[in-house]
Amino acid sequence: MHTLTKLISGLLFASTLLSHSVLQAAVMHQVNAVPGGVVVIRLDKVKTRQAPTARFIKRKIMVTRKSATDPYWYAVIGVPLSVKPGQYKLLVTARTRSGSYIKKAYPFKISYKKYRAQYIKIKNKRKVNPYKRDLTRIFAEYKVIKKAYSQWTPKSKVPLKFDPPVRGRFSGSYGSRRFFNKKPRKPHSGMDIAAPKGRPVRAPAKGRVITIGHYFFNGKTIFLDHGQGLITLYSHINKIKVKPGQHIARGQIIGTVGKTGRATGPHLHWTVRLNGTSVDPALFMHRRYNRQSSTRKRRRRRKSNRH
Ligand SMILES: [Zn+2]
Repeated sequence: MHTLTKLISGLLFASTLLSHSVLQAAVMHQVNAVPGGVVVIRLDKVKTRQAPTARFIKRKIMVTRKSATDPYWYAVIGVPLSVKPGQYKLLVTARTRSGSYIKKAYPFKISYKKYRAQYIKIKNKRKVNPYKRDLTRIFAEYKVIKKAYSQWTPKSKVPLKFDPPVRGRFSGSYGSRRFFNKKPRKPHSGMDIAAPKGRPVRAPAKGRVITIGHYFFNGKTIFLDHGQGLITLYSHINKIKVKPGQHIARGQIIGTVGKTGRATGPHLHWTVRLNGTSVDPALFMHRRYNRQSSTRKRRRRRKSNRH
């Protein structure tokens, strides 16, 4: 191998490795440099007055610290499911104390991940092939949802560890390629947790209610803003217990489990969004929960409630 090529590939390997260890050790529990995953990159130490700004494929990226005294800033990148595996760059701009700007590109690699195919039978055919008047409603809702998703609240401390929002059985994983009544539809944008109707749904971390609504596919839904483009969504809710603008504490009840919208049975559909894209919610949770839930999933695959 050519020496320069060797050096470059060595550097890339080192940067990927660093992002893994940082995430596992300090900022979050797991990392996945794959479509639908999260990549954390430690930025070079620069004496700055404010947090550096970071961009990835033209998106504004979260930049945070472990504590107010931490000398390092970390960029936390949500990788869209649609991104092709390959080499990418995070573009960072830092303003020094003297007022000059330092720009740097941090290369990182996104690997391929194969997500499972899932075949779901929906009895209400209208939820798979909506009527013309439904499409008008769906389009209007899409605009409202898109606006809620575009929320960006500057916040120095963003919660990156989440509690499970509801006690229940893991019934559908993020990213699965879905077929409703044998028709291909969008990949699963979140995690499904099956639980009896009426069971409390709790905020997995501190946040603020962006909006609430009752939508054609998602049913009754709550949007929480945790800061710097980290947004969570709770769908198919039976009863919503919060109001737009309300500040929510970690563990506070925000609603109850239901099956409103397109659902095969009572469950919570939970979406986590980062820099305008959905990412795997499991990456923000404690490892123990993930292990338990995947065992349960294997055991009771037949009776899974999901959308
Ligand atoms: Zn779902």
